[in-house]
Amino acid sequence: MAAVDAGRGRRLPSPEPGLRLEAPIQILGGYTSRKGAAVHRAGKRLIAGLLLLVAAAFAAERRAKNVVLFLGDGTGPATINAASIHGYNEPRKLFIQNMPHIGLSETSSASSWVCDSAAGMTAIVTGHKTHNGVISQSAAAIRGKQDGDPLKTILEYAEERGLSTGVVSNSSMADATPAACYAHSNDRSKHGEIFAQVLKPRFGDGVDVIIGPGRTAIYDATQKLGIELEKELPAKGFQVPESLDAVPADARRVVLLFSEASFDLAAAAQKAVDILSRNPKGFFLMVESNNHSRDVKQTLERTVAMDRIIKATAERLSVDDTLILFTADHSYDLRLPRGPKSEGILDKVKIDGSHTAEEVLVAARGPGAERVRGILPNTELFHIMKAAYGWEAPAKPAPRKATPKRAATNAR
Ligand SMILES: [Zn+2]
Repeated sequence: MAAVDAGRGRRLPSPEPGLRLEAPIQILGGYTSRKGAAVHRAGKRLIAGLLLLVAAAFAAERRAKNVVLFLGDGTGPATINAASIHGYNEPRKLFIQNMPHIGLSETSSASSWVCDSAAGMTAIVTGHKTHNGVISQSAAAIRGKQDGDPLKTILEYAEERGLSTGVVSNSSMADATPAACYAHSNDRSKHGEIFAQVLKPRFGDGVDVIIGPGRTAIYDATQKLGIELEKELPAKGFQVPESLDAVPADARRVVLLFSEASFDLAAAAQKAVDILSRNPKGFFLMVESNNHSRDVKQTLERTVAMDRIIKATAERLSVDDTLILFTADHSYDLRLPRGPKSEGILDKVKIDGSHTAEEVLVAARGPGAERVRGILPNTELFHIMKAAYGWEAPAKPAPRKATPKRAATNAR
C-alpha cells in the first residue's frame, strides 16, 4: 500500500484509521490557493488524494478469511540462521527471513522460563499461559492430576463461526502441538483422551482435517478407552483414506493417519489447503514441522523444507485475504560456534538437546500481519490471529513510525 505523494516525492504513512485524512488535507492545504496550471495540478492531486483515501479505508478494514499458522517446533533463531547457511550457503535466504513483518516472541510458560510444546502451543492458540505438559487448559491444571478450565482455541473460534479447520504435522497427531489446537487435557501424554476429542468437539463439527503420523499409537490408545475409530470416524463424516492420493476430490473432512513418520509434509500441507479451501467462509490451518533433534542434518533440512512449504503456501493463497504466520513454540540449544565461510557447517553445529528460553522469531504476511513487531508475549499471537479474522478489536494498535509530518507536528 505504499503510495507516493507526487508533490513532495515522499512516502505517505501506511494507511491506518488515524492517518486516513492526512494526505487529502495536506494536498488541499498546499495547492488550492495557486492559479492557472497550478490549479489544474491541484485538481489532479485532489483526485489522487481521494483515491488514496478510498484505498486507505479499504486497507483499514482488511480482514483475513484464512489463517495459516506454521509452527516450527523448537525452531529458534540460531536454527533458522544455520538452516539458511546449510541450505543456501548464505544467511537471510529463507522465505521466513524475508517476510514483511518480523517480531520476536518470548516463550515462558505459566510457571517456567522454558516451555514445552504443550504450554507453548497453548499460549499461541488460546492467549493464556499454562504449565508445561498441559494441553489448552488453564494454569489451575496440575499435570496428570487435576483439570484446569478448558481454554477456547483459535481453531474452536473458527469452528464456532463455520469455518473449516485443520492440523498437519510430522509429529503424532495426538502430540502436544496439534493436540493444543483441538483438545484439552491435563497431560499431553493422554493420547487416547486427546484424540477422542476429535469425535466430541466443543464447537461446530470439530477439526475437519487431520493429516500426519501416529496411526498405531492413536488407534491403540483410543481402543483402550472403548473407542473404535474405524467406525466412529466415518460416522462423524470423516473420509479415512490411507494415502494422500486416496483423498477423494470433493472431501471436506479427512483423517489421514500415517503409520510411519516418513511422508511428504509438503504434499500433506497442500492437500489440507485443497480440502479446507472448499469452504467459502474460510479456514484455519496449523502446519507443524518438528525441527529439533540431536540430529543436526535432520534439524536443518527439516527447517529448510518447512520454509519451502511456507513459500509454496504463500504463493497459492492471496496476501489480501490470508494471514500467514510463522513462529516457534520454544527455542532449542542449537548453535554455530565457529566456521569459515568456505566450509560446510554440519560438523560444526553443537546441540545439547535442551529447550531454551530465548525469544523466537515471528514472521507474518497478510491482513493483521502489521501487528507482528517488537518483542511480544507468546499469548499475543492468539490475539493477532483473532483480530485478523475480525473477531476482536486489536487490543493495542501497532506502534506507528514517526513520519516527517508527525515529527514536525510534535516539534511545535
Ligand atoms: Zn516444542
